[in-house]
Amino acid sequence: MLAPYAARVQESRGRRYPEPAHAYRNDYQRDRDRVIHSRAFRRLEDKTQVFTRRYSDHFRNRLTHTIEVAQISRTIAAQLGLNVDLVEALALAHDIGHPPFGHAGEKALDAAMRAHRACFDHNLHALRIVEDFELRYAAFRGLNLTFEVREGIIKHSRDYDPAGFPELREYLLGQNPPLEAQLIDLTDEIAYHTADLDDGYEARILTLEEIRRGVPMFERFYVQAEAHYAGAREKLKFNEALKRMLDCMVSDLIAQTQARLAASGARSLAGVRACPERLASFSPAVDAERQQTKDFLYQKLYFSEALRPEKSEAEQVVTELFQYWMEHPEALPASYQEQAQREPLHRVICDYIAGMTDTFILRQHRKLVATA
Ligand code: MG
Repeated sequence: MLAPYAARVQESRGRRYPEPAHAYRNDYQRDRDRVIHSRAFRRLEDKTQVFTRRYSDHFRNRLTHTIEVAQISRTIAAQLGLNVDLVEALALAHDIGHPPFGHAGEKALDAAMRAHRACFDHNLHALRIVEDFELRYAAFRGLNLTFEVREGIIKHSRDYDPAGFPELREYLLGQNPPLEAQLIDLTDEIAYHTADLDDGYEARILTLEEIRRGVPMFERFYVQAEAHYAGAREKLKFNEALKRMLDCMVSDLIAQTQARLAASGARSLAGVRACPERLASFSPAVDAERQQTKDFLYQKLYFSEALRPEKSEAEQVVTELFQYWMEHPEALPASYQEQAQREPLHRVICDYIAGMTDTFILRQHRKLVATA
């Protein structure tokens, strides 16, 4: 049963190229399936989330992170009466625009582009992937996704100023996206905050004492877990605390979003779109704890000494390869040389690098730069 404010597939603004209806899959289900069957989705398996494979096979990569985001998003969407098919399509697509090597790769690619007065934005790149780069159908380029999925890919994590992005005009930039898209950025944070505490602890970069001191929400639940399971192994008490922390954020997000919906008076998707601000939200208390967790992870994990060597190597690989192809465009694959006839070379190189997996870009670097 869909809530009145949910996105309804029969009211979708539809696809760019009209297609006949499928016998038993609706358009959002088909979009979800198209994302899963895309090349960009498969490549997530070999893209760094936080830790490269050098650390351990147990840790998240961008694919398993994506699956965790989809799982959490489905739970929340079902509880709110939202369109679970649309939410799942958006969750599965939310990271397909990410370059290799996680944040370090993104930073280096953006810096390389800024030298040409351009930039790299993973949401805009994801849109280019689903609109243009995926070649699966004879009748059109791209995946021909419905409007709401393309809109959600753009707007799930930020608002774009209509004046600065005329090419996004069709995406109703002055309006909120549907709640199904508003959820994604928040479930993404729930997923990676808990997962990164877990992997950081397993990697022995974060100690239990540090986490207990620096993450008050974790500490509250760790005290509970200790009271319940006094004799249990530390890691199992850690898991119990983390599980409760995840559940606390999910339940808070559901309750707070329901309360904001009720207060807003929005009773339709049009009402959600027209609200002065986004309605999906944590409560102020949990949001403060979420921010503390995020600050802790930035300081103690993402910018830790332990991860610094890998990050500088990642930045070096991206920067040097970008430069190499700027100087040797003839070394690009034929399809990219062709694209360079229509678009600036730096944009073409950026697209090429952004699509790469960690393994592939390292191999290219060894072959083209490291041996030169
Ligand atoms: Mg993510």
